[in-house]
Amino acid sequence: KAKEQGRNTFAFFQDDMKSLSDARLQMEKSLHRALKEDEFEVYYQPQNNDKGEIIGAEVLLRWQDQERGFISPMEFIPVAEEIGLIHDIGRIVLQKSTQQVALWRRQGLWKDTWKVSINVSPMQFAHAKLVEYVVAALDASGLSPDLVDIEITETTLMSDLDGALAKMERLKDLGISLSVDDFGTGYSSLKYLKDLPIDRLKIDQSFVRDLIHDKDDYAIVLAVIAMASALSLNVLAEGVETEEHFKQLKLMGCYTYQGYLFGRPMCADDFKSYCESHSAIEII
Ligand code: C2E
Ligand code: MG
Ligand code: MG
Ligand code: MG
Repeated sequence: KAKEQGRNTFAFFQDDMKSLSDARLQMEKSLHRALKEDEFEVYYQPQNNDKGEIIGAEVLLRWQDQERGFISPMEFIPVAEEIGLIHDIGRIVLQKSTQQVALWRRQGLWKDTWKVSINVSPMQFAHAKLVEYVVAALDASGLSPDLVDIEITETTLMSDLDGALAKMERLKDLGISLSVDDFGTGYSSLKYLKDLPIDRLKIDQSFVRDLIHDKDDYAIVLAVIAMASALSLNVLAEGVETEEHFKQLKLMGCYTYQGYLFGRPMCADDFKSYCESHSAIEII
């Protein structure tokens, strides 16, 4: 009996493994097709100051799979990294977003003070040609590097500090600014805040979510804001969903924000409308 059950359990286990690897293979195949068929789209989420004014936008990748519909970047980016497609996908993000922002700039929609923030994963940042890819996108689009911000994570700084530093300096020399994304969730040392050419810390949304009720989150956010200010770094809070979040963060000395309170990630057309109607909207 036990033996039989054991066999059954194993059979189930095998079935589970099989469907898992089937799903995985399917995803890999779909990702290759998505690249070939140009199924990736970039969305834009506004970043705003304490007056509600737009200060820029973060570029967020979107993929509508033919069979499965919308798939989160949190799900497909790790797979794209494992199979080496992340570099091609990253170049598409760079190309699409710089083309779009350059066009908006020419149309007068995008202001000179706004920055477009582009995510670059640790694996992308480690690529020998990363800086060339960025330069190529800027050249092709004609977008000024002053309007570009690159978001890296603490993990990028951990793996190969010297390599990362050299690339950061090249990007800075071009006129691009650098943000540390999801700040506080990684394992890097505080030393790099002093040594590396970083412009901005983005406080991770996990600290912002319960900021009002959780005294530990409150303490962490307050400490990050104080530290950023003391080190002359800009600080932006992610995941600002409510009026209370906004008011509290402003009281704590954080004056730039990103989150559903100000706007969801939007397709290019919707972001354009958002910008056009924004001055008329009373957000705050
Ligand atoms: P991230 O860079 O930290 O981006 C912020 C995420 O928070 C986005 O999720 C955004 O939609 C979400 N978000 C924004 N405001 C709010 C809010 O008020 N509340 C909540 N709960 N969430 C909010 P998304 O678009 O699903 O992206 C997830 C992650 O995928 C990103 O986190 C980033 O790490 C990665 N990612 C997205 N696009 C790219 C890309 O083009 N390249 C790379 N390498 N990674 C990307
Ligand atoms: Mg980001
Ligand atoms: Mg983030
Ligand atoms: Mg995040």
